[in-house]
Amino acid sequence: MAVLNMLDLSGLDLVDGHCHGITTTPLDDAAFELWCTEADEPAPVGAPYLDSQVGLALRRWCAPLLGLDAGAGVEDYLWQRRRLGPEEAAGRLLRAACLSALLVDTGPAVSGLLPAPAVGALAAAPTHAVVRLEQLAESVAPVSGPDAFADAFADALRAALPGAVATKSIAAYRHGLGLDPTRPQPQEVRVAAARWLRDGGRLTDPVLLRHLLWCAVDTGLPIQLHTGFGDRDALLARTDPALLQPFCEATLRTGARLVLLHCYPYHRQAGWLAQVYPHVYADVGLTVAHLGARFTAVLAEFLELAPFGKLLYSSDAFGLPELYLIGAAQFRHSLGQVLGGFVADGALPATDALRIADQLGSANARRLYGL
Ligand SMILES: [Zn+2]
Repeated sequence: MAVLNMLDLSGLDLVDGHCHGITTTPLDDAAFELWCTEADEPAPVGAPYLDSQVGLALRRWCAPLLGLDAGAGVEDYLWQRRRLGPEEAAGRLLRAACLSALLVDTGPAVSGLLPAPAVGALAAAPTHAVVRLEQLAESVAPVSGPDAFADAFADALRAALPGAVATKSIAAYRHGLGLDPTRPQPQEVRVAAARWLRDGGRLTDPVLLRHLLWCAVDTGLPIQLHTGFGDRDALLARTDPALLQPFCEATLRTGARLVLLHCYPYHRQAGWLAQVYPHVYADVGLTVAHLGARFTAVLAEFLELAPFGKLLYSSDAFGLPELYLIGAAQFRHSLGQVLGGFVADGALPATDALRIADQLGSANARRLYGL
C-alpha cells in the first residue's frame, strides 16, 4: 500500500547540510564494516555489523552503482569495490547522491581523509565550511595561555569565519548538553583555562564549552550541535536535546540559530524544541544513513511537531562515500513514502507535497545557511 502511495522524489534537490571527509585508501573487510557503523570494536562471531539496517541499505542503494544487483551480498559488494578501486567507487557513489551543495565539518581530525574540496570535486558540488569550535579552541589555547585564551579564541573564530556558513559544537560529547546556559564571566574562563592547560587532555570543561558556544552566538552564524547517538565516546543519556532547553531559552533573542543534528532517539524532543523556539532547527543527519528502511517511520515522527520550514536534510557521512549515497537515496525514498502517505490520506494537498519536499531537501538549508 505504501508503495502505491509513494511520491517519486528521486530527482529531489538536496543540500547535504552536515558531512565529513572520506577515505579513498583501500580498506579490509573488517575496517569497512566498522566505518559503516558507530561501533569501534570488532563484531562478535555470528553477529556481523552489516547484518543490520545499515547493511541492508548498503546492499539496496550502493550495490547497483558498482554494477551489482540491488540486494547483492556484502561479500560480493566488498569484492567488487576492491576490483574497481576505492577512488572509482567513491566517484560513482558521490555523483549518484546528486547533491547541489555540501557543508563539510572538518572534524574529527582523522588522518588520511580527503579534504572538503576533494570531496566536493568527487560529488561535483560546491562545498561550504563549518568551523568546529572545540578543535579551534584546542589549537588556540596552547599558544594563547590561560589569561589571553578568552579573547584569543574569539579572535581566532572571527578569523576562521570568511567562507564559513556555520559553526559546530560537540559539547554533547565533551560534557553533555546539561550546561549552565549563561555566558561565563572572563575570570571564570581564565580559571578554567588555567586548569585545562595544567591538566592537559581534550577540552571537556563546561565553563570553556560555554565560552565557545557564546562566542559562536556572537558570530551570528547558525550553530550546529551534536545531539543524540554517535560513537560510544558519547554518553547517550547526556545527548538528549531536551537538556539544551535552558540554552534555547537564553539565546532566544540574541539572533542565534541552533541546529540540532542527528537527534535520534530523541528526535521527538528535537521536533518539539523546533516548534516552540523560533531559532531552533532539527537535522536528520546520521539518523537517515543508519536506520535504513526504518528511517521512514522516524522521519514521520520528526514531522509530528517540527514545522516543515525547520527540518533539514544531511547525511552526516563520515569516512565512506557509501554513507553519502545511502543518506541521499534513503531520504528521497522515505520522504516520498511519508508525504505520499499524507496525500493518500487526504491530509496533504498534492500541490503542497512537492513544496514541502523541496523545503526539507534544500530550501530550508539555503535560507538558514545563506547559501
Ligand atoms: Zn558529523
